[in-house]
Amino acid sequence: MEVSEKVCIPSVSKTLKHELVHLIVSIGVAIFIHVTYGDILVSIFTFALAMFLDADHLFDYCLHLYKNEGGISGLFKFSAKEFLSGAYFQKWQKFITPLHAWEIAIGSLLLYFFWLPYPIFMSIALALSSHYLVDYATNDVNKKAYFIMYRAKNGFVKKAISR
Ligand SMILES: [Zn+2]
Repeated sequence: MEVSEKVCIPSVSKTLKHELVHLIVSIGVAIFIHVTYGDILVSIFTFALAMFLDADHLFDYCLHLYKNEGGISGLFKFSAKEFLSGAYFQKWQKFITPLHAWEIAIGSLLLYFFWLPYPIFMSIALALSSHYLVDYATNDVNKKAYFIMYRAKNGFVKKAISR
């Protein structure tokens, strides 16, 4: 999802280009997990998580529709174009996106190494980390932006995550 501050012209094609980078990286991480653990389900899960993590922007978009567009009836104003282009960001001005959180990736990695050495936790850690790194490279966000505790401390305002 394109959340750039400087280049603030919302566009569906920009978002799709960004998702194409996610596609390539997600395939790479899924192959790595497959070679390491040889479990096709975990590999597919890895791919899906890394690729479709931006689905958590739906959480923000729906909350925006609910709060700014008239409650439950606002939810019926759902527009795929407005969502995919990120145009709603201009009114919403927040960045909650609960799955964009290094805390989850770090927690999974710690679980894997110290408590539950199941491939699924390595899968979560790698899928999330690879997704975040692509986001960092292609979005204008600061280093703390993807720590949910940092965003919460700043009231989830979008301004706090820009570089
Ligand atoms: Zn993302």
